[in-house]
Amino acid sequence: MDADRYRIGAGQAAGLENRDPSDQSLFAGDKRAGKAALSKLNKRLEELQELFYADSRHRLLVVLQATDTGGKDGTISSVFDGVNPLGVRVASFKKPTEAELAHDYLWRVHPHVPANGEIVIFNRSHYEDVLVVRVHDLVPNERWRRRYQQILDFERLLIEEGTTIVKFFLHISKDEQRERLQARLDDPQKHWKFSLGDLDERKRWDEYQAAYEEAISNTSTESAPWYVIPANRKWYRNIVVATILVETLESLDLQFPEPEDDLSGIVVE
Ligand code: AMP
Ligand code: MG
Repeated sequence: MDADRYRIGAGQAAGLENRDPSDQSLFAGDKRAGKAALSKLNKRLEELQELFYADSRHRLLVVLQATDTGGKDGTISSVFDGVNPLGVRVASFKKPTEAELAHDYLWRVHPHVPANGEIVIFNRSHYEDVLVVRVHDLVPNERWRRRYQQILDFERLLIEEGTTIVKFFLHISKDEQRERLQARLDDPQKHWKFSLGDLDERKRWDEYQAAYEEAISNTSTESAPWYVIPANRKWYRNIVVATILVETLESLDLQFPEPEDDLSGIVVE
């Protein structure tokens, strides 16, 4: 699978309007075959993550962004199914607290970046500060506009200090969102995921798309690329994200460390 077609090159426009959220062109099989493919990718990811953890010289930051019902939670649980929780952590960014609002917007983010050997998934991220903040006019225009460059600088700092960064936008259509919101309403076990505010946010769909378009176009770089993932079909979304993560880990020079002591000829009695 050549997932490069979903990667936004540095300086390239995201072009969300021209990308089909139902695309499944990189996988020839159906949903069932897709699930089998995911299960192989899960195993591979599990092996690579163990090696990554043991090697302990790299850090991986995975940024996940999507509109409501875009599938962030489902992606995390499906793609990382089976990995060792010792080396993987999820950091979720909700509405900022009073203390967070009293600081710069990166203040709450920096403590959660991965340490050596760690994979951290940002479930929402510092990008909210040029998305929801923009759509709801939470800070003046000139202030959030400056954040694109600040975010690039922040990510460059992380990269130069040894962090690998991949960023995913889970791209669903407005129709798909209606179906998923309705499904949450129809199923009492999904009510906890529904808030009336989601309907207000849906009214601002176009503004969110414009905000995503500009944020992704302005902040995709060679070393911290954005991928726009067709996410109407969950199984397809999962295999594309898993494939990119496997390829990202394979591109690092991962090795099990040498034992601290010379173990040759040692036998446990
Ligand atoms: P959920 O991910 O469904 O639990 O919702 C979290 C909510 O927090 C979403 O509505 C986000 O837009 C909101 N949120 C996250 N980060 C920020 C931020 N920096 N400023 C304002 N709202 C935010
Ligand atoms: Mg929500």
